Amino acid sequence: MEVTQLSGVGPALAAKLGKLGLHTVEDLLFHLPNRYQDRTRLVPLSALKPKTACLVEGQITSTSVQRGRRVSLRVSISHNNATLGLRFMHFHANQAKSFTAGRNIRCFGDIRPGPQGLEMVHPEYVLFDDVPPALADQLTPIYPTTDGLSLTRMGQLISLAWLQLEQGTLALDELLPQQLISRYQLPSLKESLKQLHYPTLHQDLNQLQNEVTPAKLRLVLEELIAQQLTLSQAKKQSQQLPAPVMMVKEGLEHGLIKNLPFQLTKAQQRVWQEVASDLITPAPMVRMVQGDVGSGKTVLAALAACRAIDNGCQVAVLAPTEILAEQHLHSFSHWLNPLGVNVVWLTGKQKAQTKRQSLAAITSGDGQVIIGTHALFQDAVHYQHLGLVIIDEQHRFGVAQRHSLVKKAPQGCGLHQLVMTATPIPRTLAMSAYGDLDHSVIDELPPGRKPINSVLLNNNKRADVIERIHLACSSGQQVYWICPLIETSDVLQCEAAQDTAALLTQQLDNIKVGLVHGRLNGAEKADAMARFKSGDIQLLVATTVVEVGVDVPNANLMVIDNAERLGLAQLHQLRGRVGRGQAQSHCLFMYQAPLSKMGRERLDILRQSNDGFVIAEKDLQLRGPGEVLGTRQAGAIGLRIADLMRDAYLLPEVKRIAAGYASHPKKTRQIILRWVGDKQAFAKV
Ligand code: ADP
Ligand code: MG
Repeated sequence: MEVTQLSGVGPALAAKLGKLGLHTVEDLLFHLPNRYQDRTRLVPLSALKPKTACLVEGQITSTSVQRGRRVSLRVSISHNNATLGLRFMHFHANQAKSFTAGRNIRCFGDIRPGPQGLEMVHPEYVLFDDVPPALADQLTPIYPTTDGLSLTRMGQLISLAWLQLEQGTLALDELLPQQLISRYQLPSLKESLKQLHYPTLHQDLNQLQNEVTPAKLRLVLEELIAQQLTLSQAKKQSQQLPAPVMMVKEGLEHGLIKNLPFQLTKAQQRVWQEVASDLITPAPMVRMVQGDVGSGKTVLAALAACRAIDNGCQVAVLAPTEILAEQHLHSFSHWLNPLGVNVVWLTGKQKAQTKRQSLAAITSGDGQVIIGTHALFQDAVHYQHLGLVIIDEQHRFGVAQRHSLVKKAPQGCGLHQLVMTATPIPRTLAMSAYGDLDHSVIDELPPGRKPINSVLLNNNKRADVIERIHLACSSGQQVYWICPLIETSDVLQCEAAQDTAALLTQQLDNIKVGLVHGRLNGAEKADAMARFKSGDIQLLVATTVVEVGVDVPNANLMVIDNAERLGLAQLHQLRGRVGRGQAQSHCLFMYQAPLSKMGRERLDILRQSNDGFVIAEKDLQLRGPGEVLGTRQAGAIGLRIADLMRDAYLLPEVKRIAAGYASHPKKTRQIILRWVGDKQAFAKV
């Protein structure tokens, strides 16, 4: 049943739902909340805790427009002698006027510390005089949505879908084997969905969100099985056709090794052997190379490219962002142009004319290495003889996306895939998460690297930090200044980076400051990066967009603002941007005091270790599984309810059960459609 069959769903709404991968009424039922809010009870103003979301009520006592860095409106409310400030960054004059002293207001929002005590920033609110609005009679599920589709509307749509199920106009097929259901005593599918969409009242929110109840377990199992089946199908498909056999030749590969200013590390050599022995057989390689930041994955990719070109094949190098693709363009051109290899650039944002030239070179075979973003696998791209695909930072691409590149091989041929990632994932987990990939690890850094010296600094030492940047830049070094996500909004986050860049420009005479953030277009970002790389810019202020892959060896000082707000793995990735050259590098983690005990322990781990795996493990111990890999990893491979860390113990069983689906092709298709759907299809990067 298509979503358009629900009352009130026209083509425009259907298109928005489509963006979320929701095409059918059944899809809506499987669109699960990622958390819940409690709007069933009021929290007294005297009992508010920072970093919680809650419903409050009070009487307006005063309002004031405050002019700081940015104009904001502060409304003070009070109730039973306790007070709270509401802060609005964006507001209309009329809105400001509506907050008259003496009126009552009911608000829902996040509590956080502000300059004058606790605040609720941009709450949802209702003003009232006598009769308070009714409280919600059940917990509010929070669903993932998209621009122009409100949470309320989404909730209504899901209720409509639910009604179809209740009335029996829609039925859900049971896709789990009976023996599994009995063994775990799983509730029915309908009951499981009901508990997630409409949890009963008076459940502890934390428990509801974190505990794996039988209802949740049932859905987790379904999803993991679907994921497993998708992976094994993808592997089967990508290995159906023979790939080109790539023999050792006295060619480019030789030339590259001879020209390298360094020797490959033992680990690089070992992994290169693993890759090379895959390439020499017609069974298509599907291999993931995992290595900590700075372990030297790119040169391995270049070697594989040489081997492919030596054997008359084209090579596609795919990166998830323009910045990363640009980095690869730089490295590959640097290594391969002197050997006479033609490296071609292709991205979505390229000008029409240069794009036409690139496409022509790809079709004719003149382009030997093609580097770019997901533009590489669009329909208009016809390769002359694609034999090897190299994908950087795998976790941002889905299986289906990789597969769409495989289809670019010549008719009747398969191709080799090399996937590179710096995400430190415990090995067992990696095997399951990327079930269709063979796995190599570069577990050694190039020699002579001085471990990065990491320091924790209270934010009130800013003046010293700026002095230090001045010294570094004056002596020819380069510096990163990272402004992580402080504001939840993308716009505000970029504004914060802009403000910081402006301030630093002012404070640092004669030092060229550049800026990179998510709202710049690809060309602007690439331009700033190129100027940083060439040394034209000495201090680069950036949001976390520089996280992966950027390689500027001359940059050896990094300042990370508000470090306490980022995950350890992410901080480690960021820090990996320095420590790439010969000079001693430093990373200054600046935090906003006071730092909680846990906050200090976490940052201490970074101070003590430079090893991505150690950091991931420790972070895991401190924060528990859900937090560490949870959102990012799950989000990336498109999991809705399963959590690879939390549910890792189920994976062996899931594999066994998935194998049993071999004799049920229809169920296999259904369960994949239900859980994976077209979400991993290539439209979405
Ligand atoms: P990552 O694995 O994070 O992608 P890169 O491939 O960008 O790391 O390598 C980081 C830096 O180390 C690059 O400047 C690269 O040229 C250099 N490098 C790679 N391998 C070696 C090696 N064996 N010895 C010395 N330097 C190396
Ligand atoms: Mg890299």
